[in-house]
Amino acid sequence: MRTRFAPSPTGFMHIGNLRSALFGYLLARKMGGVFALRIEDTDQERLVEGAIEKIYETLKIAGITHDEGPDVGGDYGPYIQSQRENVYMKYARQLLDGGFAYRCFCDKEDDPADCACQNTAGDASQPHVIRQVIPKEGQTAFVDEVFGEITVNNNELENQVLIKSDGFPTYNFANVVDDHLMEITHVMRGSEYLPSTPKYNLLYQAFGWEVPTYVHLPLILSADGGKLSKRRGDAFFEDFLEQGFLPEAIVNYIALLGWSPPENREIYSLSELEQIFSVEGLSKSPSTFDLGKLKWMNGEYLKAMCVDDFYPLALPYLNYDNVDKKALATLVKDRIAVLAEIPEMMDFVAQLPDYDNQLFVNPKNKVDEAVAKDMLSKIIPQIEELTDWTAEAISPMIKGFAETEGIKPAQIMWPLRCALSGKEASPGGATDLLVIFGKNESVDRIKTAIAKL
Ligand code: GLU
Repeated sequence: MRTRFAPSPTGFMHIGNLRSALFGYLLARKMGGVFALRIEDTDQERLVEGAIEKIYETLKIAGITHDEGPDVGGDYGPYIQSQRENVYMKYARQLLDGGFAYRCFCDKEDDPADCACQNTAGDASQPHVIRQVIPKEGQTAFVDEVFGEITVNNNELENQVLIKSDGFPTYNFANVVDDHLMEITHVMRGSEYLPSTPKYNLLYQAFGWEVPTYVHLPLILSADGGKLSKRRGDAFFEDFLEQGFLPEAIVNYIALLGWSPPENREIYSLSELEQIFSVEGLSKSPSTFDLGKLKWMNGEYLKAMCVDDFYPLALPYLNYDNVDKKALATLVKDRIAVLAEIPEMMDFVAQLPDYDNQLFVNPKNKVDEAVAKDMLSKIIPQIEELTDWTAEAISPMIKGFAETEGIKPAQIMWPLRCALSGKEASPGGATDLLVIFGKNESVDRIKTAIAKL
C-alpha cells in the first residue's frame, strides 16, 4: 500500500487539504504502507514563494510525517513536479503517437468541442497545447471506495489540456503519470476531483496502466452550508493555530470530518487514529465544520494537559508584570476553550477595570455595598499582618475572619474577589487572586474599593 499527499504550494494549508493529508497518512500507517509527499507545482501562475517550506512545516506541526518526499528523499523522486517536466513530455508524446492526444493550436478562449485541430497535423513549432482525445461514444465507469460506482457518458467529458503552451503539464495529466510512476495504490483526495476522475481513467486505459483505488473524501461545509471561507477565518489550519487552537485538537477534530470511528468516543490521539482508521468509516455525505465542537475538543485537550505543559503555550498570552504567571496559567487552564481567550479573561490583572459599585451587590450571599465596605475595611489589618503569603495561610485567615465576624465565608470572599478583579466573573476565587497579586497590590485594590464604596 502506498498513499500520497499531493498539495499545490499556494500558500496556506486548507482544512480540506490537511484532512486529505491526514487520511492518506492514517491509511498508510494503519496498513503498514508508505505515505509520500508530492509537490504539485506545475501551475506556474499560482506559485507562492516559500510555500513548499510552509507545507513541510505545517505537516510537522500536525504530526503527519511522510516517508518519501522532496525533503526526505525516496526512490520515486524527484517529488517536485516542476522538476519532472521531461517525464510528462515523454508520456505526452506516447499519447500523441497512439492517437490518444493531439496538438491544439486554438486560442485559450476557443471551445475545444468546436476545434478542428484533432484532425489536422499542425506545425509543432507553433505555440500549442496538447489535449486528451476523449472518445465521442461510450461510457466510462469506475468505482470509488466512498462514492461507489460512477458512470459517465464520454460525450460529457471535454478534451482536457494535458500539456500547456509553456510545456508544463496540467494537474490533470501530471497526477495520473505520477500516481502511476510512484506506484500509488490508494488515491485519496477531496470529492471536488470526482468529476475529473473519468478523464483520468481514460488516461490510465490509454497507457494500459492499472487504475489505483480511489478514495474520494466528502465535502466540508461551514455551519451556514457554504464553503469554508478565508474571510470568516475557518478555511486554513494556520487560522486556527493563530487563534490558539492546539494542533492535536485540530487534527483530532479534522479526523472526524467525514469519518466515523468504530467506537463511540471522539477524543483520539494521532497514534490511536493510526491504529483504528479505516476506509469503511468514511461517509460520502458532506460534513459540517462545527467550530463549537472544535472549541469543546480543544478545551478537553487543555484540561488533559498538566500545568507544566500548558504553561509555555499560555505564556505568550500572559503579558503581565509582577505576577506569578504560572499561577495565572493554572487558574485559566481548565476554564478556556482556546488560548486566545486568555487576554480577555485576565484583562483585570494588568489593570483594575473601572467598575460600578453595583458589582458588590450579591443578594444570594446577603452582600450589599455597606456589608462589602464594612468587611473589606475590617479584613485589611489581618491581610497586612499575614507573613506567609500562600494559599495555605490565606485561606484559613479568611475563614477565621468570617467566624470571628459571624458571617458566611462568602460574605467576605465575594467582596474580596470583586475588589481584586473589578469584574463580575473572574477565574479563581478570593484566595487565588490574593496569592497572584501579592500583598501590596491586593491591599491597594481593596483600599480602592473601600474608597469607592
Ligand atoms: N494538487 C492537488 C491539490 O492541491 C491534489 C489533488 C490530488 O490529491 O490529486 O488539490
